[in-house]
Amino acid sequence: EAKKETLGFQTEVKHLLHLMIHSLYSNKEIFLRELISNASDAADKLRFEALGNDSLYEGDSDLKIRIEFNEPQKTITIIDNGIGMTREEVQDHIGTIAKSGTKQFFERLTGDQAKDSELIGQFGVGFYSAFIVADKVSLTTRKAGTAVSEGVRWESAGEGDYSIETVEKPSRGTEIVLHLKEGETEFLNDWRLRSIIKKFSDHISLPIVMSKEVVAEQDEENNEITPANIEDETVNSASALWAKSKDEISDEAYSEFYKHVAHDFQEPLTYVHSKVEGINEYTLLLYVPSRAPFDLWDRDAKHGVKLYIRKVFITDDAEQLMPRYLRFIRGIIDADSLPLNVSREILQQSKQISTIKAGAVKKVLGLLENLAETDGEKYQQFWEQFGNVIKEGSVEDFKNKERIAKLLRFSSSHTDSKVQNVSLDDYISRMKEGQDKIYFVTADNFAAAKNSPHLEVFRKKNIEVLLLTDRIDEWLVSSLSEYNDKHLQSISKGELDLDKFDTEAEKQQQAEISKDFESVLKQMQEVLADKVSEVRISHRLTDSPACLVTGAYDMSLNMERIMKEAGQ
Ligand code: ADP
Ligand code: MG
Repeated sequence: EAKKETLGFQTEVKHLLHLMIHSLYSNKEIFLRELISNASDAADKLRFEALGNDSLYEGDSDLKIRIEFNEPQKTITIIDNGIGMTREEVQDHIGTIAKSGTKQFFERLTGDQAKDSELIGQFGVGFYSAFIVADKVSLTTRKAGTAVSEGVRWESAGEGDYSIETVEKPSRGTEIVLHLKEGETEFLNDWRLRSIIKKFSDHISLPIVMSKEVVAEQDEENNEITPANIEDETVNSASALWAKSKDEISDEAYSEFYKHVAHDFQEPLTYVHSKVEGINEYTLLLYVPSRAPFDLWDRDAKHGVKLYIRKVFITDDAEQLMPRYLRFIRGIIDADSLPLNVSREILQQSKQISTIKAGAVKKVLGLLENLAETDGEKYQQFWEQFGNVIKEGSVEDFKNKERIAKLLRFSSSHTDSKVQNVSLDDYISRMKEGQDKIYFVTADNFAAAKNSPHLEVFRKKNIEVLLLTDRIDEWLVSSLSEYNDKHLQSISKGELDLDKFDTEAEKQQQAEISKDFESVLKQMQEVLADKVSEVRISHRLTDSPACLVTGAYDMSLNMERIMKEAGQ
């Protein structure tokens, strides 16, 4: 295994590298943020592993990240003493893209540079961003707890292939040397590097150190000379961001922290930062992304909220911290009162964790309610990205049903636009005198809903109808039968009881029609006896001659179609 192998990049990596180098060029200093973010994650992982096995520290538990540069050699080096990687891990994580959502990402690429670079921003490039500024990257790493002889060196020029070999590495952790491209020497500058770190990585709770030259000094009184020497200096503020008070944290710091925890390139849409006091104390800092991730619909997608216990990272796979319908939420929860040595099994059954989860869900719902009230435009943006996921909450989260229902937005016959921006409260505020139901129609697309023959009579009587066309809507209305004491009523089911909205003239006209058609109706009933259960004169329609209606307790036609498609 010690031999040096040269291996080809996965096709996707090649494609991604090419795209990235060309599209993230105007934002190139982010390479440092990405590499520091990885180093910080590696330290977090080591700290957690070492809780159960102190020897992993190998006598050095002073975790930090070091940044060096060398002007004549044109290199920048990022060194961490985190968990490190085995040869297999290097191969799996650095030569391939193992991320969920990769397939969806590549499917959505268009070949149009501007559009694709936006997608790349959304996808995130992580480690590979090193190649924006470097034409050779050399990564040397050793996994904590392995022998000095089990170091691994990975090298690549970011083109078609990379080499990998086993080397000696005395210290555990990872060292990445970037050989800068010809035009990128602006980064070989102490001040420039420090300001990038300050700007992008100030929130990292680990010290990021650079060396600083302390110049020679002569003491005038006794003529003693202090020789010049090099000292380490911590560049960032190196304390957990969430533990600070809100007024100490700038918007920019909140936003950069988001990019780090969410592995996202974009700004968050909004966030909530809160310390919950009581027997079960915890701090949460939770964000709503501005865009849905590529793996939003991926069953194996990772959950986005990291669990810390008194600032020690525990897991980023804590399914139990957010319900499925809030799986797009990113951020951290730091629990004060849990024991540090929790195992996954304990977490799963912990009563404290479920209390924290319930509290965190309330905070998120509060955040969304607040956004809806104070910034309609942003809320609309949120709804377009995550509305379909929130709808799952109506089915899933019985306890918060009313609050979730308040957050829902629909298309409606009132606006006749595909945009889902009508809330149930909006609807209720426009209900007609005497109307006690919220009417809706379901269909498999907007045009079908909008042109549904069932709508005709509602339009005529000027009664608003919600137009539900998302796949999940059938499930939504089957679990949300009521809002604010108003029954949700499908306009294609059973008796509609709209007579009370008829004018005197209409009533009279209908009575005459019924009389005229009595015999026709009887005949039709006989002819269609084994096909339908009843033939009725309808006042539902104004333009269409006839329509099918399901019984009040039957499955709706749309639901029937969905079940058929699903093979039921
Ligand atoms: P992400 O951070 O979103 O997972 P990256 O491309 O930044 O994606 O990194 C890919 C993976 O490589 C990481 O998940 C981690 O497993 C590994 N890795 C990268 N840098 C380091 C490091 N400094 N120490 C240990 N592992 C690392
Ligand atoms: Mg990363």
